[in-house]
Amino acid sequence: MDRILSGDRPTGPLHLGHYFGTLQNRVRLQRAGAQLTLVVADYQVLTDTDTAARLGPAVDALVLDYLAAGVDPETTTIFAHSAVPALNQLLLPFLSLVSVAELERNPTVKDEIAHARRASVSGLMFTYPAHQAADILFGKATVVPVGQDQLPHLELTRTIARRFADRYGPVFPVPAALLSAAPLLLGTDGTKMSKSRGNAIPLGADADETARLIRSAKTDAGRHITYDPVARPEVSSLVLLAALCLDRDPHAVAADVGPGGAAGLKKLVTDAVNEYFAPLRARRAAYARDPGALRALLRDGNARATAVAEATLAEVKTAMNMHY
Ligand code: ATP
Ligand code: MG
Repeated sequence: MDRILSGDRPTGPLHLGHYFGTLQNRVRLQRAGAQLTLVVADYQVLTDTDTAARLGPAVDALVLDYLAAGVDPETTTIFAHSAVPALNQLLLPFLSLVSVAELERNPTVKDEIAHARRASVSGLMFTYPAHQAADILFGKATVVPVGQDQLPHLELTRTIARRFADRYGPVFPVPAALLSAAPLLLGTDGTKMSKSRGNAIPLGADADETARLIRSAKTDAGRHITYDPVARPEVSSLVLLAALCLDRDPHAVAADVGPGGAAGLKKLVTDAVNEYFAPLRARRAAYARDPGALRALLRDGNARATAVAEATLAEVKTAMNMHY
């Protein structure tokens, strides 16, 4: 049985990129019988944010989005990594297994630094991929459903698992990344849809807000709609979004819209998104009526993750001869 680990930063409500990038795969694998663990990566928010003040509501929104998307609250462990000390302790041996040069050349970290536009870069920004290795390896996950931006981090996790085995003996499996058919959905500005870039269409947005955001999406000067992700990334990302909602081939969707141009495409995408996500939005509203239950779920998940992390840390200490 696969052990699935995935997660998100509590920086705002989840968006369509999350859903088609990873969330749908998480739910699909869970329904097929895999054990699912979801990490609320709260320390990771501090890579590019100075304050933890807004964390509480963002954590609640994240758990709400998980449940709305169909994650089973009975069998899923949902936890915040700040609440699991034994997980965080894995960061120290893991950091000893990677070089500064490896951390510095991570392309996703470089891109995030460029978008953060801050005067200085914190140590956490460079080291969070190693922390993420602790998120993944503490529960010995075998499969990690992620978007494309996470591939360098997954590669680092695999390196850490292998190097740990070489140096101290086998404790961790080498996990595999799982990409979806939409590993890089673009936002309304034509760059990666991201919670913190102001370019996202939230899962929980209502039909009018969704229509407004899609109308504002960047396209190109081409009059005829085609599906060509390399030459026409913005238009193709919209076509793919409609195709995923309609469960159709993107080339066929583009051919249907064809001469309807950007306006026709946006109308089709809006209708498809609003119809596809209506049940999710209804579930979200229902779960939102009981915020106490969300926190209780998280407390339970924190306790379960702590038990798992303590067992793994004990194995790690034994492998490292740290038993006094
Ligand atoms: P932030 O702007 O705060 O970094 P984010 O939108 O990038 O937010 P994350 O919490 O960093 O979201 O990422 C959570 C997961 O969702 C990761 O596996 C990531 O690869 C995936 N993901 C995020 N954005 C997209 C996207 N636009 N397309 C596909 N997958 C995505
Ligand atoms: Mg991100």
